[in-house]
Amino acid sequence: AKTSGKGRYEVFQGSHHASQLETERLRADLHHALDGDQLELYYQPIVRLTTGDVVGFEALLRWNHPGRGLVPPADFIPLAEESGLIVPIGRWVTREATRQAARWQRRGGPALRMSVNVSAQQFQHPGFVWDVTEALERSGLDPHLLTLEITESVLVDDAQRVAGKLRRLKELGVRLALDDFGTGYSSLSYLRRFPIDVLKIDKSFVDDLAVSPEDRAVVGAIIQLGRTLDLQVVAEGVEDDAQVRALASLSCPLGQGYRFGRPRPASEAMAGGTVAGGA
Ligand code: C2E
Ligand code: CA
Ligand code: CA
Ligand code: CA
Repeated sequence: AKTSGKGRYEVFQGSHHASQLETERLRADLHHALDGDQLELYYQPIVRLTTGDVVGFEALLRWNHPGRGLVPPADFIPLAEESGLIVPIGRWVTREATRQAARWQRRGGPALRMSVNVSAQQFQHPGFVWDVTEALERSGLDPHLLTLEITESVLVDDAQRVAGKLRRLKELGVRLALDDFGTGYSSLSYLRRFPIDVLKIDKSFVDDLAVSPEDRAVVGAIIQLGRTLDLQVVAEGVEDDAQVRALASLSCPLGQGYRFGRPRPASEAMAGGTVAGGA
């Protein structure tokens, strides 16, 4: 059956319009998300690959929308960034995650790290370092247990200002991770210039690890780089045993992914995995 070009054009216009309306509604609703207690953090374990021990968690934001159910971050974080709402939302995330980590710390047992995602807009905000300082003070969390995950997009800004801010964060004692490593600008000079502690190998390199010699080579090179520069390395998006074996053969220290645990609410995050053996 042959569709006319015109028909297709109209269909496209229609759906485009609808999705724009949807976006507008979501944007309006997002204003109530914080006040309305609709935001929640899920926690996904990060494990030591040789032992399977959980060494920490990454906090991942969830929006329980009253009408739509769970809205994934990919659908609302861009809106929060455009509107500037990412600043108060990010402040809430940092407070909530540090509070949760401190709660786990007080329960005793091995120290567990907490990773928090920081978007570029949030990082650039003048009050960001203060927000982190305040969250640490309020929670009482050992600053060394907090890792801030930034992407390379943060680092392409005015290098001097970025370096100054990263230094102030390091002075607080927190650790810095480069998220989605390998997908951005990946200028290796960043690793020399900025005080990075952790590389997170993007899922796209891990997906075909067991079958692709090219991806194996790339992941192997990143792991080697981490060892040379004394950086922690976490492989993201690990879903099956073949990937675990491939990562083990490359001596990758840490992994994260559905194979080890999906993101879960705090009350459920500790169940299932072996929580032992510090970081
Ligand atoms: P990200 O920081 O790269 O987080 C990893 C994403 O991969 C999460 O998606 C996680 O649920 C998903 N994931 C983990 N393991 C697997 C796996 O084995 N297979 C697959 N298919 N996916 C896996 P999520 O939670 O939907 O978050 C998406 C992105 O939204 C995050 O990517 C991060 O960039 C952003 N984000 C999430 N929470 C926050 C937050 O609190 N603040 C900011 N600024 N961004 C956030
Ligand atoms: Ca992340
Ligand atoms: Ca990532
Ligand atoms: Ca990502």
